[in-house]
Amino acid sequence: MDILSQDIMYLPGVGPKRKEILSKELGIWSYRDLLEYFPYKYVDRTKIYLLSELSADMPFVQVKCKILSYEEFEVGKRRKRIVAHATDGHGICDIVWFNGTKYIYQNYQLDKEYIIFGKPTYYNGRFQFSHPDIDDASQLQLNDMGMQPFYITTEKMKKAGITSRAMEKLTKTLLSKLTTPLDETLPSFITSPLHLISRDAAMRKIHYPKTVDDTQRARVRLKFEELFYVQLNILRYASDHRRKYRGDIFNRIGAQFNWFYTHNLPFELTGAQKRVMHEIRADMMSGKQMNRLLQGDVGSGKTLVALMSMLIAIDNGYQACMMAPTEILAEQHLQTIKEFLKGMNLRIELLTGIVKGKKRKEVLAGLLDGSVHIVVGTHAIIEDKVQFQNLGMAVVDEQHRFGVEQRAKLWSKSDNPPHILVMTATPIPRTLAMTIYGDLDVSIIDELPPGRKPIQTIHKYDDQMTSLYQGIRQQIKLGRQVYIVYPLIKESERIDLKNLEDGYAAMCEIFPDFKLSKIHGKMKDKEKEAEMQMFVSGETQILVATTVIEVGVNVPNASVMIILDAQRFGLSQLHQLRGRVGRGAEQSYCILVTNRKLTKETSKRIDIMCDTNDGFEIAEADLKLRGPGDLEGTQQSGIAFDLKIADIARDGQLVQMAREEAQKIIDSDPTCQKNEYKLLWDRLKALRKTNINWAAIS
Ligand code: ADP
Ligand code: MG
Repeated sequence: MDILSQDIMYLPGVGPKRKEILSKELGIWSYRDLLEYFPYKYVDRTKIYLLSELSADMPFVQVKCKILSYEEFEVGKRRKRIVAHATDGHGICDIVWFNGTKYIYQNYQLDKEYIIFGKPTYYNGRFQFSHPDIDDASQLQLNDMGMQPFYITTEKMKKAGITSRAMEKLTKTLLSKLTTPLDETLPSFITSPLHLISRDAAMRKIHYPKTVDDTQRARVRLKFEELFYVQLNILRYASDHRRKYRGDIFNRIGAQFNWFYTHNLPFELTGAQKRVMHEIRADMMSGKQMNRLLQGDVGSGKTLVALMSMLIAIDNGYQACMMAPTEILAEQHLQTIKEFLKGMNLRIELLTGIVKGKKRKEVLAGLLDGSVHIVVGTHAIIEDKVQFQNLGMAVVDEQHRFGVEQRAKLWSKSDNPPHILVMTATPIPRTLAMTIYGDLDVSIIDELPPGRKPIQTIHKYDDQMTSLYQGIRQQIKLGRQVYIVYPLIKESERIDLKNLEDGYAAMCEIFPDFKLSKIHGKMKDKEKEAEMQMFVSGETQILVATTVIEVGVNVPNASVMIILDAQRFGLSQLHQLRGRVGRGAEQSYCILVTNRKLTKETSKRIDIMCDTNDGFEIAEADLKLRGPGDLEGTQQSGIAFDLKIADIARDGQLVQMAREEAQKIIDSDPTCQKNEYKLLWDRLKALRKTNINWAAIS
């Protein structure tokens, strides 16, 4: 048996009890699992400082001291603080424990030398270390004093004595047992040109580095490997898919498109819209199924591009559908599309949860017999009962609410999968797009329609509301409309609802001379629609809402967006909300209201919002601040980010490298036949089997 498959229980220092904890807490069952549990940081322990060299701004350092005496202080009723006075012959320091136990006296004896490792702080005229790591100086071997790895451990582990230090010892024991080199998982024609060290060297250095350089080389190698196989898997899957399905060929630009373009289109397309239409047309004529992600900032005019694509499908004798994440948005799209296609003899229908009974039957029948040209709706469209005569084009708006699985369902709506255009207003940084949407081609609308004035974003504290209300009044008197948004957290919908209801009542009192609408997720659809309609038509001037308005709502006359408790929103959410204004020709404003107790990260978020309107910049910043696992929508997208060592936010360059290498392999051997790549295909197969998340990708 492969030694790495060995049960972790048999590793000296583990045993059945520790195995239970390791497997429960960290998923470590085998030697391999332990080997692949990487340190999260290292501390340089090559230098021992003299007490006379210390200064208070030093990070973690180590000193070699003897304990001279102990002293105890009462803290509260039953608690003691224990202080050890120690010296290295060059000065005196204190070692402090805030919850003293006998353990300390038993383990750390007087007049013996210890290596004390911790952060020095200056207190009462001398340096002190509180709760430092302490090792017997005579037991610490010289080569232990290199880069010390730190492993993440849980409370339960610490209670059972499995500290980071203990993990370090276990991995060292494990490494000493691996007497033959570990199998290589990347061929030398990849590793050599990129100067990547071997897998065996990387595994040894990652746990047991001697120098900073060791840690870096080990990390680069292991991160690259991880990212490479992710990319190889995605690209293989995409290439399989392309080979398996041909795409319907739409080679005609016909009556519907031309009529729309010459008679109904109320404005010139922007340069970016024209370019993207060319890209889409090229896909539609390629004979391959289109799978295209259309990224464009809020308000950049994606809907129009989608509409024109659908018209091309209709001109070629096919049906089209458009899916939105919410009912409000679906209805808005329906209205927009109907308005754009006025006077053209096309049947456009809505299919959402509220379309019921007889109406629903009619729509379903129309889809089946082909008399419905365009259906706009929610997830209701992908239900099994919904069948088309010949669906040729599917548009999915706001991808971040729509996962790989749903896309696959759309494919199955037609013998030949329809061309798919996925639109997102949450710009996704390139490296992330490559990983989540690795199988999609990407088009970008990077130009707003002319005449838009950049939105001004202003930060206000919640004790400055009075002046804010005056501003609102002024804007409404100028004929504009205002959104006021309250945060919504799923865990406490009741509290949120109360916040919103209270807020609405308060606003009604503050603005007795204006009319207000309110809208939230718990309202009945009919009610929601009515409230929304009043705001759209301008009957009400203020819309008090939760984040249900986040996506897609289009009221060009609204020029002020007020976001309360803005500290509770993420960057991309703030950007989405802000995108609800700035859609008309007027100067628009976004006011972020927060309390005065902001964390560093929150202030950073608010600053970024005030500094830029550029969605891509914001998305990059978001990724850096939060990390990809947290990014909105990545959970639903079907790929969990449990990469063991790589970090998509920080390792952008490696993602790019991995992508390029994987692409070369796929181009050279699309059907996985070539012997020279056997190592890669075998490894990919093995990974697909062991890692459940791979299944989600394919
Ligand atoms: P997105 O979906 O990308 O956020 P929309 O498609 O809703 O943006 O477009 C925002 C607004 O801009 C809509 O009112 C739309 O009619 C308008 N619009 C789209 N393209 C143009 C253009 N080329 N010129 C002027 N206005 C446009
Ligand atoms: Mg939109």
